[in-house]
Amino acid sequence: MRIADIYKQDTPVLSLEVFPPKPGHSLKTVFRTLDNLRDLNPSFVSVTYASQGETTNRTVDIATRVREEYGCESLAHMTCIGHTKEEVTNVLDDLEARNVKNVLALRGDMPPDASTVSRDYHYASELIAEIASRKSFCVGAAAYPEGHTEAKRISHDLDNLKRKVDAGAEFLITQLFFDNRIFYDFMERARYRNIHVPVIPGIMPILNYKQIKRILMMCEVSVPAKLMNMFDKFSHDPGDMAKAGVDYAIEQVSELVEEGVEGIHLYTMNRVQQVREIIFNSGLREKM
Ligand code: FAD
Repeated sequence: MRIADIYKQDTPVLSLEVFPPKPGHSLKTVFRTLDNLRDLNPSFVSVTYASQGETTNRTVDIATRVREEYGCESLAHMTCIGHTKEEVTNVLDDLEARNVKNVLALRGDMPPDASTVSRDYHYASELIAEIASRKSFCVGAAAYPEGHTEAKRISHDLDNLKRKVDAGAEFLITQLFFDNRIFYDFMERARYRNIHVPVIPGIMPILNYKQIKRILMMCEVSVPAKLMNMFDKFSHDPGDMAKAGVDYAIEQVSELVEEGVEGIHLYTMNRVQQVREIIFNSGLREKM
């Protein structure tokens, strides 16, 4: 089923993101995660893609198995920077042949030496246009409530977002954020720019100090005082820190659902127990 059609049904739609294990590691971990999340009946599962292409086939393999073995719709992430047109065509042919109909089309992060990358693609909008032109796919794209790290101004980034929607993106999933007010402001600005496709908040629970440090290095997101205080209070107690991180995510999700968002996309980080707690305690699913 096309994911854009899923968002036309009952909302909020629950979707989960999993990532393929590093090269050389068995796929067992990701399928164990999926086994333990199956009864939550997510509307779709998204599978990330490694920019370097090392796990290309793994993304396609996992997305195929999610559909065939778990009976759940899948969303295959795909990046274009550093890839040739031919490589992109091959991946799309493969996805088409395996009946994976939904793609999250991304540029991918620029490698440290950007001068060496293939220049068949510059921005995600080019990949989106190419996939959308095939008609057999439903294409989604990434959105950044606080702006993408490379964008000088949030307004430039919103112009780009509009470009991605005009190129054929039928739904958007956001980068993680920790302050719901930022998402509400972003939605107002997006709607003002005539972006009317579903914009789905991406939520990531913070489970340890190392994780938040890594996130802050990778993307520019604001950390509210309440979350900062939590880090200070529990920095020496990993168990309490993880519990507080789950509680914070439950509060965030519950409020977003109350405000009427069309869906919640949970970055699971392949962590089963915490994801289950968030889903049950925010009312997205009922415990059987
Ligand atoms: P783009 O939309 O191309 O934007 C990149 C930058 O260029 C932005 O600053 C934008 O404002 C600017 N820009 C775009 N078009 C123009 C233009 N015409 N003129 C001037 N400036 C322009 N990465 C992975 O490697 N694998 C994944 O699986 C993955 N999944 C993700 C899932 C989500 C929900 C999100 C939010 C991100 C994900 N990423 C993933 C990270 C993503 O690849 C990076 O954030 C990347 O740096 C930007 O990708 P994009 O598709 O948003 O790029």
